[in-house]
Amino acid sequence: MARIVMKFGGTSMAGIERIRHVAGLVKREAEAGHQLAVVVSAMAGETDRLIQFCREASSLYDPREYDVVVASGEQVTSGLLAITLQGMGLNARSYMGWQLPIRTSGHAAALIEGIDAEVLERVFSEGGIAVIPGFQGVTEQGDVATLGRGGSDTSAVALAAAIKADRCDIYTDVDGVYTTDPRIVPRARKLPIITFEEMLELASVGAKVLQTRSVGLAMRERMPIKVLSSFDDRPGTMVVGDEELEEFGMERQLVTGIAYDKNEARVTLTGLPHRPGTVAAIFAPLAEANINVDMIVQSVPRSGQTSDLTFTVPTASLAHSVEALEQVRDTIGFGEILTDTNIVKVSAVGVGMRSNAGIAARMFQALADRGIDILAISTSEIKVSVLVPEEYTELAVRVLHTTYGLDDNGAAA
Ligand code: ADP
Ligand code: ASP
Ligand code: MG
Repeated sequence: MARIVMKFGGTSMAGIERIRHVAGLVKREAEAGHQLAVVVSAMAGETDRLIQFCREASSLYDPREYDVVVASGEQVTSGLLAITLQGMGLNARSYMGWQLPIRTSGHAAALIEGIDAEVLERVFSEGGIAVIPGFQGVTEQGDVATLGRGGSDTSAVALAAAIKADRCDIYTDVDGVYTTDPRIVPRARKLPIITFEEMLELASVGAKVLQTRSVGLAMRERMPIKVLSSFDDRPGTMVVGDEELEEFGMERQLVTGIAYDKNEARVTLTGLPHRPGTVAAIFAPLAEANINVDMIVQSVPRSGQTSDLTFTVPTASLAHSVEALEQVRDTIGFGEILTDTNIVKVSAVGVGMRSNAGIAARMFQALADRGIDILAISTSEIKVSVLVPEEYTELAVRVLHTTYGLDDNGAAA
């Protein structure tokens, strides 16, 4: 007998037929004698629909009320799955975030402070199955809160850690983690196993198959994750620690995967005076406004001349960024603020980069051969990212996938 958290994403919960299918998967695990906590997402498209309602109601909506609205999608699917499981003769019940409770702080991108295992321990001791809405928690004040887009993955991993589950199974609409998004590269290869570290980096540069925070949490808690499809019964991908990778006898690749992120916007400030403190004066108000600056490029000024500074921020923070910069324009004395949202960040990730020079050079050459202009570059120990015009997204991802030898040549082109 194992203790397992099963998480089902939006496509898996999109309608009663699909929910019935999910219930069948839960039943199979229950019949194998496992203790189960099932975490569900809202039906596909539902969270987008609810967010749109908030925007229509008021462009400057209150995050507390936003959470009240968007948390409802998961409440519906958890009730529906519990009803369906009960209809199959299983002892299942839903428990909302506030009933466990899943204690969180903040709104709209709330942080999990802790989860009490008591209720679930009681459910398990009575042979029951708990169905829990993903994405939601409760604040100290008793208000409903949500964890940010894709947050049900984080709910699942946090629950798994709280109840000391043997593993956390994430069921989605693809049958594992691929070398890149299989929806844009048909030659992408499924990875039987990937390390937390690489998955964390891939998720943080745009591979949305797992929410970044869920991977960070799993890594800290040493909670093995399995990513698999709720639609077909194929083996998925195990996300594990470094040690296990060696146990599985997997060979390390130089580059593990390619990801892309369209949710970045480019900001360029022109005519910056060249004196110490200018850059600090630009980024301080952005940090104060909690805006995450990612790639940064500064042109080197010739003596006595001004320079330009380019950086990227999440598209959702662009308006706020411009507002914050306008307020310091006079004190710093720069020229224009130029913005561009038609860009994409494409990244190659792999721990093999640590010991291998030349990965970045190969990327630049491959993109140059296809006439793709590079607008900015950033690197970390196990990642190289470039900013390119959005129209080249698919081409750039495909070219890099081929360049680093990731193509599955048995797959359809
Ligand atoms: P869910 O609703 O189940 O949480 P998501 O849409 O959040 O599902 O994540 C699954 C999607 O992630 C897939 O449909 C796929 O298009 C995308 N994806 C991006 N990069 C990858 C990757 N490297 N491997 C697998 N899927 C990926
Ligand atoms: N329903 C939420 C979203 O779409 C959370 C999730 O599915 O993980 O972002
Ligand atoms: Mg998701």
